[in-house]
Amino acid sequence: MITTLEAVETDTDYSFETLALHAGTTADPVTGAMLTPIYQTTTYRQEAVGKDKGFKYSRSGNPTVSALERRLAAIEGAEFATCYSTGLAATTALFLALLKSGDRVVSSQAVYGGTVRLLRQTLAPFGVQAEFVDTSNENAFAKALQKPTRLVFIETPANPTLKLTDIDLASRLAKKAGALLVVDNTLLTPALQRPFDFGAGIVLHSTTKFIEGHNATVGGALITRDANLHDQFLFTRNTIGTIQSPFAAWLTLQGVKTLPLRMARHCENAGRIARFLESHPRITRLVYPGLESFPQFELAQRQQSAGGALIAFEVEGGAQAGVHLMNSVRLCALAENLGAAETIITHPVSMTHGAVPPEQRAAAGITDGLVRLSVGLENPDDIIADLEQALDASAEGLLL
Ligand code: PLP
Repeated sequence: MITTLEAVETDTDYSFETLALHAGTTADPVTGAMLTPIYQTTTYRQEAVGKDKGFKYSRSGNPTVSALERRLAAIEGAEFATCYSTGLAATTALFLALLKSGDRVVSSQAVYGGTVRLLRQTLAPFGVQAEFVDTSNENAFAKALQKPTRLVFIETPANPTLKLTDIDLASRLAKKAGALLVVDNTLLTPALQRPFDFGAGIVLHSTTKFIEGHNATVGGALITRDANLHDQFLFTRNTIGTIQSPFAAWLTLQGVKTLPLRMARHCENAGRIARFLESHPRITRLVYPGLESFPQFELAQRQQSAGGALIAFEVEGGAQAGVHLMNSVRLCALAENLGAAETIITHPVSMTHGAVPPEQRAAAGITDGLVRLSVGLENPDDIIADLEQALDASAEGLLL
């Protein structure tokens, strides 16, 4: 009997905040332990040949990981999830499960650099074709789908430019082309954007980011309402051996409990900081989906419930000034992650998107001076003070 591991039967009756806390876990019937334990075990003793309790070997399934999978499926409004060692392991499993040599993927032009590298450098030699298009441009998007396409892969908002793709339109175009729509929902999470409501077939997450939220793990997930796709993901994950570790799953189960609270505060803080930056005389370009100045503000209002935690901007003085600014922050951390409780500042060209060819970066609007800010949960006044002193330092640096 494995009742501790069974999903709460009435999961779907509860609201998002309650699901984030409770879905997928119940107290242990033997000890009463509230939290699902870390099942740190390689294998599972079988009662007889062919008779087990649902788990055989921790590469194919682990109870702690399964609890996280049930919770992630519930909060995305789906039935099935598989969790992976990293976000890119989830992307790899997705492509290996659904593509074969000669198949074509149409992807947003601005996506996480590792996704581009995987398609261009690792999968292209196996005959997988990828076309990167501006999926915010309906004509370009529809044109790219005139050729036979197996998968449409979008990231919205896109990392790091925050350009949006209309998910509803993408799902209609994909359907017409006979392709499956995959949405990387890492930057907003189901707290702010619900891709299945707009017709997505698969949702991908780097749980490393907001889902776990504390800069403590790396992990990924593939979520779907389709049992057949789920079976293919399970099979592929077992084949390539990229299941999430029980410890990372346990930490993520704790992190996800506060996802609704954290996302609300991230957005509140980011809105204040974006308004501060927008009014600063040395900021030449600022992109934040929660501001009316955002070029796709109407779409942002339609498909996301708030602006999110990420801000992209450029400083007067170009790339040199941007680099000075990033080297001058004290409270914000110059680092490669996003979505954590701590505010992180990143230089996409040299850090997260270095693997994207320069011409693709230019076409996607990832300029050398672009700064990405992932606003954390500190008091926003402290972040503003830090950015103010870093902007002053970068201006002085230019005069030297
Ligand atoms: N998707 C997005 C939008 C990301 O930002 C990242 C990482 O930055 C990934 C996927 C890959 O996730 P991971 O770093 O967990 O492999």
